[in-house]
Amino acid sequence: MSKLKIAIQKSGRLSEKSIQLIEECGIKLPNGGGKLITESTNFPVEVLFLRDDDIPEYVDQGVADIGVIGENVLLESRKNITIVEKLGFSACRLSLAVPKEIDYPDLAYFNGKKVATSYPNILSDYFEQNDINATIEFISGSVEIAPGIGLAAGICDIVSSGSTLLSNGLKEVEKVMSSQAVLVTSGNLEAEKQAILNKLLFRIRAVQKAKE
Ligand code: ATP
Ligand code: ZN
Repeated sequence: MSKLKIAIQKSGRLSEKSIQLIEECGIKLPNGGGKLITESTNFPVEVLFLRDDDIPEYVDQGVADIGVIGENVLLESRKNITIVEKLGFSACRLSLAVPKEIDYPDLAYFNGKKVATSYPNILSDYFEQNDINATIEFISGSVEIAPGIGLAAGICDIVSSGSTLLSNGLKEVEKVMSSQAVLVTSGNLEAEKQAILNKLLFRIRAVQKAKE
């Protein structure tokens, strides 16, 4: 019998909630051990532990059947994979921020400026839609320090409370997108796997309903 392969983040902000979601659905997973792949003992699923950025590619390639990622990572990946369910956790937003002492007028401020981000695809689409001509400087981490060290005039990064921006002397000026954790699939599962997914979705919805 085939098993549904679920990709979740190995370690990070989505990990704990992703495992919790699986367990709340009554799916038992063996305890830890740092394995990259594990099988449930009471439900036909295999769980793959990956970096979140790699999950869209794995799902697109069919190496994983479904995955749990933030909408921000999904959109940035530009993969043709679809959301099957919004999961309601890890809510955050992708925003533009500038040094707090800047007298920020509007989005036109970014014309001719450099903006540092780990989300170049989302940001370039956003600037294009808004007719802004800015230079995007890709950096993979610690984006908040870019203005302070003279690398960029502003940043585009994930914000939840805003405390990280504040402690780096920045202020949020535009929201580019809202995000939450979502369940994604490539959308061409074989019948047996689709049946397992349907069962899983039924349980996820029941768990979510119970929390309302
Ligand atoms: P990885 O090592 O897997 O690449 P990462 O460092 O890229 O991890 P995390 O910081 O663990 O990623 O964030 C994972 C996802 O959690 C983000 O893509 C976003 O959707 C969400 N997220 C990030 N920061 C926050 C936050 N402060 N509050 C809530 N959700 C967040
Ligand atoms: Zn990541």
